[in-house]
Amino acid sequence: MATFLFDKIIFGPVHSRRLGISLGVNLLLPTAKLCNFDCIYCECGWNGDHRGGSFNTKEDVLFALQSKLSEMALEGELPNYITFAGNGEPTMHPNFLEIIDGTIALRNSVAPLAKIAVLTNATMIDREDVRAALLKIDRPILKFDSAIQSTVELINQPAKKRTVDQTIELLKLFGGQIIIQTMFIRGCYKGVTYDNTTPQEVAAWLDAIKEIAPREVMLYSIDRDTPDSGVRKVSREELEQIAKRVEALGITAWVSEFLRKFNSILGIKQKVLYKGCEVQIKLSFQIFA
Ligand code: SF4
Repeated sequence: MATFLFDKIIFGPVHSRRLGISLGVNLLLPTAKLCNFDCIYCECGWNGDHRGGSFNTKEDVLFALQSKLSEMALEGELPNYITFAGNGEPTMHPNFLEIIDGTIALRNSVAPLAKIAVLTNATMIDREDVRAALLKIDRPILKFDSAIQSTVELINQPAKKRTVDQTIELLKLFGGQIIIQTMFIRGCYKGVTYDNTTPQEVAAWLDAIKEIAPREVMLYSIDRDTPDSGVRKVSREELEQIAKRVEALGITAWVSEFLRKFNSILGIKQKVLYKGCEVQIKLSFQIFA
């Protein structure tokens, strides 16, 4: 399937009616994917197809961000969001805390109204420095796709072995200051069917959400090609039904535009690569206008 990697440290800006102007930060080198999950739905593709990669240095990341923010300031168009996403798991960067500190300093001096978000798979939150970094930003968005161990192992394929109960205990350490993101999908992988929207899955997941007590839950499904072709999308209506059950717990829940926004960036780029073009496109366009 047509998956791909980000080729720059900074991507965007992307405009959306609801979220304003967003800038993305990719900590991985252009040809690399580095993640300790290997999700069957990952739009960057399988880990095995992009081995040998490494992280951009802290200095390069902060220089690229500073340059972009300065350029945007000159144009009078500062971002509303600076979001860490990209070719893999950002919290695996050895200098993640320092990068967050540097980003906060840049944000405060150049774009004080911008919110900082990190999309993470939550595998590194057993590290105190990673938890500290996530607690410093405005929107720490942590992945929790299922409360059933066999489902996590099938759809996320974690390299780092941890039980769901251990993950829940770690997520509780944030004292309700995090946002949980859950990818809802169904399909068949290596002859095993999965569906994290079944009554049993949703009941276990809701119990976990209640225990973790995040400040928000973001629900989404696939929008683009996935490395395994057997992954099936869950409809917006089904996601909204699950979101209502989260709201009934007194927790804000929404079917995510925020995550779909980045998927849209991927989709545009994917089309260009598919045509075999070398053209650099400027990722500045209206997505949800
Ligand atoms: S955690 Fe994110 S980057 Fe890592 S494999 Fe899953 S979707 Fe891809």
